[in-house]
Amino acid sequence: MKMKTLGCSGGIGANLRTTTLLVDDDILIDGGTGLSDLSLEELARIDHIFITHSHLDHTACIPLMIDSVARYRSKPIRLYATEAVLRILREHMFNWLLWPDFSCIPSEAEPFVTYHTVAVGEGVVLGSRRITPIPAQHVVPAVGYHLDSGDGSLVFTGDTTSNDALWDAVNRIDNLRYLIIETAFSDEQKEIAILSKHLCPDLLAKELAKLRRPADIYVTHLKPGEESIIANEVEESVGSFCPKILRRGQLFEF
Ligand SMILES: [Zn+2]
Ligand SMILES: [Zn+2]
Repeated sequence: MKMKTLGCSGGIGANLRTTTLLVDDDILIDGGTGLSDLSLEELARIDHIFITHSHLDHTACIPLMIDSVARYRSKPIRLYATEAVLRILREHMFNWLLWPDFSCIPSEAEPFVTYHTVAVGEGVVLGSRRITPIPAQHVVPAVGYHLDSGDGSLVFTGDTTSNDALWDAVNRIDNLRYLIIETAFSDEQKEIAILSKHLCPDLLAKELAKLRRPADIYVTHLKPGEESIIANEVEESVGSFCPKILRRGQLFEF
């Protein structure tokens, strides 16, 4: 499997894009503002969209993308999320007020979008690729995703704060290669990190202490403008793990 990082910032501004991961050329994990850099042709090739949670930094460009590519596709885009997340998206986003409900356009029999419920621990198999929701703890219902090619695995935590259930899942992955974990805030903003259920470097250190497998660790979702502060604190707190800061455009193969 290949994964290209289209967006990995906690916000926007100049070259920053919010969370968007493209897997091969047909699967999307979250659809933040990174999605808007793809060409219309590239957008139209996306058949499957897996959503971690409803927050706009992870979903903002999905409604626009569906509208842009619908006429160029012969089959529905499959939108996957947990039952709780799908309910939020249908009630608050695809509700005809914020954006149309493409699951009944142009008709319910042949819609542009179909909704598919996923659950933690239950993998979705797409050819030789398996995508499994993993536990997350955030201010709204959320999951991360475990991508498994058969040869190797990449874990993306999504937005989460401290969460033992995540590590129970990660420590069972025997072909783990890459772990992409959020660290949205600096230690100075630890209180906000706790309130908004994110991580800061100090909390990241407590989480990584629960990791029982070797993995290349990448830190994502840094607040715009705070990148160098957070990166320095990450190095101080968890330097022994040799973490790297995730970059837009970064490619992973596993
Ligand atoms: Zn969030
Ligand atoms: Zn976020």
